[in-house]
Amino acid sequence: MIAENIKRVQQKIKEVCEKIDRNPEEIKIVAVAKTFSSQMIYEAYQAGLIDFAENYAQEFLEKKKELNEFPIHWHFIGHLQSNKVKYIAGQVDLIHSVDSLKIAREISEFCLRHNVIQNVLLEVNTSGETTKYGFPPDDVLNAVDAIMKLKNLNLIGLMTIGKFSEDPEESRNEFRLLRELRDEIRCKGYHLEHLSMGMSNDFPVAIQEGATILRIGSAIFGTRINKNN
Ligand SMILES: *Cc1c(COP(=O)(O)O)cnc(C)c1O
Repeated sequence: MIAENIKRVQQKIKEVCEKIDRNPEEIKIVAVAKTFSSQMIYEAYQAGLIDFAENYAQEFLEKKKELNEFPIHWHFIGHLQSNKVKYIAGQVDLIHSVDSLKIAREISEFCLRHNVIQNVLLEVNTSGETTKYGFPPDDVLNAVDAIMKLKNLNLIGLMTIGKFSEDPEESRNEFRLLRELRDEIRCKGYHLEHLSMGMSNDFPVAIQEGATILRIGSAIFGTRINKNN
């Protein structure tokens, strides 16, 4: 089932890319595994995926340990608390969810002490929904200026979560805003490559708006039992 789901997602990515003349190879699938077992991650890995994301530090640590022998690229996409930085920084390929200058500084300080470099994305609250983390769009340019100065952090792009809605078109404005912010930052001379946006229900729209990283959970692993996750 997981292998079929992955094929279906890959096929959809190809279809959307063909229509808008994008190269599907510049789009990475990150399989969001929160609440799903290490066995299911292993199945997806066997089916050809290599990038997996977790939202919670504890869950990440358990699965990373269980899947230690496989060369999986881990991503952290949840809100990161200060006391969890030590479990995540230097342990994952990419932290998508840098949502404050405070946490950026803490990751930087930890990485400096441990002599590691951490790739990060800056999370932007493009919808303005108060339940969401992330920098308000108006603060992004200043935040990028500050984060670019921090040692041992490698800021490589922006991340956002689209509106929770049945209609994927509802996310289009937010995805477009993220791309415009990225382009604006590029005009200031910073090299920002990635746009992490698009989930199971809205990834085709995200591709149309320039996503380079899709975070896809339920379309690969099935419905999560805990809907709050
Ligand atoms: C859970 C989650 C996803 C994946 O959601 P699906 O709808 O299952 O694809 C993507 N990004 C973040 C930040 C998430 O928390």
